[in-house]
Amino acid sequence: MSARAGIVVTGTEVLTGRVQDRNGPWLADRFLELGVELAHTTICGDRPDDIDAALHFLAARGVDLIVTSGGLGPTADDLTVAAVARFCGLDLVLDVALEQRIAAIVKPLMARFDNVDFESVRAANRKQALVPVGATVLDPVGTAPGLVVAGTPTVVVLPGPPRELQPMWHKAVRTEPLQAAIVGRTAYRQETIRMFGLAESGLADTLRDAERLVPGIGGLEITTCLRRGEVEMVTRFEPDAAGVYVRLVKLLRDRHAREIFSEDGALVDDQVAQLLTGRRIATAESCTAGMLSARLTEVPGSSAYVVGGVTAYADEAKVGLLGVDPALIEAHGAVSEPVAEAMAVGALRRFGADTAVAISGVAGPGGGTAAKPVGTVSFCVVLADGTTLRRTTRMPGNRADIRDRSTTVAMHLLRRVLAEV
Ligand code: ATP
Ligand code: MG
Repeated sequence: MSARAGIVVTGTEVLTGRVQDRNGPWLADRFLELGVELAHTTICGDRPDDIDAALHFLAARGVDLIVTSGGLGPTADDLTVAAVARFCGLDLVLDVALEQRIAAIVKPLMARFDNVDFESVRAANRKQALVPVGATVLDPVGTAPGLVVAGTPTVVVLPGPPRELQPMWHKAVRTEPLQAAIVGRTAYRQETIRMFGLAESGLADTLRDAERLVPGIGGLEITTCLRRGEVEMVTRFEPDAAGVYVRLVKLLRDRHAREIFSEDGALVDDQVAQLLTGRRIATAESCTAGMLSARLTEVPGSSAYVVGGVTAYADEAKVGLLGVDPALIEAHGAVSEPVAEAMAVGALRRFGADTAVAISGVAGPGGGTAAKPVGTVSFCVVLADGTTLRRTTRMPGNRADIRDRSTTVAMHLLRRVLAEV
């Protein structure tokens, strides 16, 4: 047995990409935790016919549960409840007690504004108190209530704002009709392995060999993706396939020991943070304009070890702020390992740090030369004891790709140096 689900994300702003969907991915994680298999996430605009079509599509796929997001507000373009009622073949009835609860929530909010027409507000909120006959009402987190409508499939109706949807989902999960809909769920395990310095095709070759070498590999659902210049392999499996996963990991280690940097899902950022405990790090950046510094400070607790950074775009800034010798820039060019090293040493001194990283590269269109085309980036990590690691890479992509990738390379160089001291 198993339980399958689908998600219907509604909202023209999400469909057009003006607002990025956060509810589909968040619910996908919750399904994984529950052991419910997600079949599809569909996105449609605020049109009843399109919402209806999505519901019918998922029902035809035989899902046990559908969760909708959005379209529960008081305004006329919020149509989800009516569409769901029609889909389930249920009439809408006014829930008088619910109407009063909504009014009690809305009244103090409205008191902040002048010229509020309470009657029109009331009419709008009456709409939000219309409930399909027999549905379980989930009390509002904002002003909009959610619903669990039992059936085949069972439909859970949730509001669009993530800060409302998330707590309401936790309430929905505890309801009897939702539990009944997902009785067939299975416990899944999910494991993540991260690799750096390996092409996705290299991993694909190994996985092709694994088809022959690892018996029972069909019990593993493997997805690989390229993220920030790293290859990420996520594997999902039922508990009885755990031994198969262990054998797959062994094969990967045999083939890619150097490239695997995380087998427990930890990000390089977390690992670097761990390694920086008790140290003081400073950064010197040109083409990444402070992005490495920003990335280092995204980890909780980083204020204990991140001292500061210099963004030195122009040569005069490299000379004036980091003490880079102008003759070095003259001799090697600003994008070079000697200059990156001088920047790192300058940051180390200026901030009284014991660890420093520098990035100097060509990220912008039109900035390159034949010898150093766009995407050429030099790095240097230095420690107070004189340990130095220099590297120059050539990266594909546009400015955003090159900058993002550069911060990833810097993280991995840092990890390498710090893991060895
Ligand atoms: P409201 O009462 O606020 O109108 P609603 O349930 O009708 O709630 P929507 O109108 O669909 O929700 O969306 C309201 C806002 O919530 C959107 O403008 C958007 O900012 C945010 N939002 C909605 N859906 C999503 C989503 N899938 N991902 C991220 N944000 C979303
Ligand atoms: Mg709305």
